[in-house]
Amino acid sequence: MRFIVRVLSLVCVAAVVAQAQQQSTILHNATLVDGTGGPARQHIDILIEKGYVKRIGPAFTKPPQKVAVIDCTGKTIIPGLISAHSHLGILLDNADSSPNAYTAENVTAALNQFERYGVTTIVSLGLNRDLVYDLRDQQRTGKLGGATLLTAGRGIGVPNGAPGLNAPDQVYRPATPDEARKNVDEMASRRADLIKFWVESGHGKIPPMPAATYAAIIEEAHKHHLRAAAHVYAVNDARSLVNLNVDILAHSIRDEPVGPAFIQSMLQHNTWYIPTLALDEAFYLYATDPQIMQSAFFQQAAGLQLLAKLHAPDYAAKTLAAPQTEQAKKDHTIAMKNLKAIYAAGISVAFGTDSGAVPGRIPGFSEHRELEDLVAAGLTPLQAITIATGQTGRLIHSLNPKLNVGLLQPDYSADLIILNADPLMDIRNTRRIGAVYHHGVLVPNTPPQN
Ligand SMILES: [Zn+2]
Repeated sequence: MRFIVRVLSLVCVAAVVAQAQQQSTILHNATLVDGTGGPARQHIDILIEKGYVKRIGPAFTKPPQKVAVIDCTGKTIIPGLISAHSHLGILLDNADSSPNAYTAENVTAALNQFERYGVTTIVSLGLNRDLVYDLRDQQRTGKLGGATLLTAGRGIGVPNGAPGLNAPDQVYRPATPDEARKNVDEMASRRADLIKFWVESGHGKIPPMPAATYAAIIEEAHKHHLRAAAHVYAVNDARSLVNLNVDILAHSIRDEPVGPAFIQSMLQHNTWYIPTLALDEAFYLYATDPQIMQSAFFQQAAGLQLLAKLHAPDYAAKTLAAPQTEQAKKDHTIAMKNLKAIYAAGISVAFGTDSGAVPGRIPGFSEHRELEDLVAAGLTPLQAITIATGQTGRLIHSLNPKLNVGLLQPDYSADLIILNADPLMDIRNTRRIGAVYHHGVLVPNTPPQN
């Protein structure tokens, strides 16, 4: 009996979803921040049809027939956020790194959490099991929900070096440039959306990837018309990568301030830059700024297991005493300065957080924190939101031209957040989520307001 009820309720849910996709909806009389970077527009109607934005214009005065109308008076609508640097299936319950975490169930739960928090598209930038390709295909045929997923497959690391994860089926570790080329070929044959690799010496403690290997990876990726994204920390590595035409620097440069010659080189090569400012902070933030953990918005994203870890009696003292904390604080300060200089120079900055990689980088929460960090680094709230939506949407479109995301304009996927407060007044108002729509469908279980 219970089984029958369950099946019936699933049928009902499916029917409701199908209906929602077919029925036209007007989001009525909103303030619109459309992702282009243009100023907010007031008293706007957004007509959604079959998952896409059909029309945007002045608010109606007489309600049209046969269209569902959602009154958005007093609300601000922004496009769904896009993280071009996140991870899936590395952590169990957001709390512990485990080689057993990459399951369909765990990955789906993370995708759903991103989506609930208004992050409607993510790039899982390496450390994926090959299962990711099936999950992505299932999602494209409507069988799997959650944030729209793009993937860099396993990615390419270094024997006995970065990345630290000990899961042989989640990362290639080629011994030679030729082996690295074969790894790229294999990911290309699985239709990875891009190629990720790690260039990191851990302050001289781990073997770095030889330049000949990463040169081979970039070249081979480009042969397959795939973009190459590098994990990077040091400016010398970044300089070499940019000269070799890497497409994306997937973290901030954090060993020293970047100079004008390097910035010029990034501009000439059209290199993308993903600052992931929330990354270093996550090592110490919950110890230095524990009131962050008071909000239900945070707590629901973190989950009970991680909360228990962060509230352990010795957590704060241990974290503050750890040598890595001092380093992370220094790194964060340089990252903030470099972002300001790089953004001011007109380099293409994309949005990403490294959420899901280690405990404390929390899917959904980290993205809202990253917006706050971008503003703390000197950007306006409008500039931060534009990076996280329209600008990163441009990068997504270059990875998969079928995906039109990041703007609220006709023919773009109706991915959006209805906010109860104005994010241009205070960037923290992106957390005041009234509703999330993903491909025109209302996402259930809106996160708590505070
Ligand atoms: Zn990462």
